[in-house]
Amino acid sequence: MNVLVINCGSSSLKFQLINSDSEAVLAKGLCERIGIDGRLTYQPAGGEKEVSDKAMPTHTEAIQFVIDALTNEKTGVVKSLDEIGAVGHRVVHGGEKFASSVVITDEVKKAVEECNDLAPLHNPANLIGVAACEKLMPGTPMVAVFDTAFHQTMPEKAYMYGLPYEYYEKYKVRRYGFHGTSHSYVSKRAAEILGVPYDQTKTIVCHLGNGSSISAVLNGKSVDTSMGLTPLEGLVMGTRSGDIDPAILEFIAKKENLDIAGLMNMLNKKSGVFGLSNNLSSDFRDLDAAAVDGNVPAKIALQVFAYRVAKYVGSYVAAMNGVDNIVFTAGIGENSGPVRADVLSYLGYLGIEVDEEANKKRGEEVMISTPDSKVKVLVVPTNEELAIARETVALL
Ligand code: AMP
Repeated sequence: MNVLVINCGSSSLKFQLINSDSEAVLAKGLCERIGIDGRLTYQPAGGEKEVSDKAMPTHTEAIQFVIDALTNEKTGVVKSLDEIGAVGHRVVHGGEKFASSVVITDEVKKAVEECNDLAPLHNPANLIGVAACEKLMPGTPMVAVFDTAFHQTMPEKAYMYGLPYEYYEKYKVRRYGFHGTSHSYVSKRAAEILGVPYDQTKTIVCHLGNGSSISAVLNGKSVDTSMGLTPLEGLVMGTRSGDIDPAILEFIAKKENLDIAGLMNMLNKKSGVFGLSNNLSSDFRDLDAAAVDGNVPAKIALQVFAYRVAKYVGSYVAAMNGVDNIVFTAGIGENSGPVRADVLSYLGYLGIEVDEEANKKRGEEVMISTPDSKVKVLVVPTNEELAIARETVALL
């Protein structure tokens, strides 16, 4: 079956058409600037990337252009819509309502809408994508795959904040965690590579990208993760602060005359390694290059990033009373040997020994610990689209 995987944002939409038997990507692309003007990037497997400006006042036009591209006589990859058997939608927040993926029905859409408060920028956009697909592909089954679902196995002691209980009761304020599709895919794949039973292994996944999070996966179930009610908590990220002393907010608000919106903008867009590097860059390639040239804020940003990752790993070793495998994934985790080496330099006490040659590799599945290392350390490129396609087929 061919599955169309859709990741819909407020003004953008990423897509991949995946054949679920061969797991090959038949075509992929991106619609950008939806509601502004509109641009489609489309690339069939083995073919040239095409970029074209197209008027996309709403997501419906965007999805129509995706369908047109996929079925185009010359560069399309299917003859008609009949060859698309299902659509898998990435949905950011499933709250406490969804602990796994679901076939989309009217009740499901209503329940997702009830989680809009928890992800006001993402969930409404996800639902718009669902509605547009339903309009243009009536009768095609659709599945929602949630970023939060994998972490619904966390125990209360991991997901409750030290806040008045009434906020949990009234507003469901608690840790949810994100990147669940990635944490699930990567931890499972690591067990496969190592030939160990997934339900009898302790794994820590370091998903290090522009947004970064860590998870503790005990016997195949997420028992803790660093992102919280929102993706702002935890690690120092590209532009997000991660954990800080909450009292800093009052202090800075008074000094800089900022309101809540100003503070949130600062925490989400102006902090992280970008802010730490004195606004140099949120991209680790730029920071690495600047640090080599002796740029002090860039060096500090890289050190703070790795130190925070290592502290989280240590805390998850405690949470699981041990660890068998540590896995690096996402843009930084897959590509930056120096960041991985920095993180692992704090973890010698676990009996980790790094294979320095293997750690130079980029973007491929590779074991970067030596055969004698007590804890296995791997790089596993994440593949959220494939995981969504698999979930979609499994449910249908
Ligand atoms: P993601 O959010 O997973 O797409 O990750 C994007 C981030 O990965 C970028 O902002 C970079 O910081 C980082 N990245 C990508 N390629 C490299 C590389 N070759 N070396 C270091 N960092 C990289």
